[in-house]
Amino acid sequence: MTKKFACKDIGMQCGFTAEAKDENELMQKIAKHAKEAHGMNKIDDATMKKVKAAIKSA
Ligand SMILES: [Zn+2]
Repeated sequence: MTKKFACKDIGMQCGFTAEAKDENELMQKIAKHAKEAHGMNKIDDATMKKVKAAIKSA
């Protein structure tokens, strides 16, 4: 099972997508992207909830 995330799914004007084999790995990729592309040194709780809701399994 693959976990997928797209920034646009949480309303970002951003073409970033990520996929990984589990949610932990995916969250690491998302955290790195959020820091580098969106200047978020830490993902806040509200954003984290949106991210988790937007993660799809495929
Ligand atoms: Zn993004």
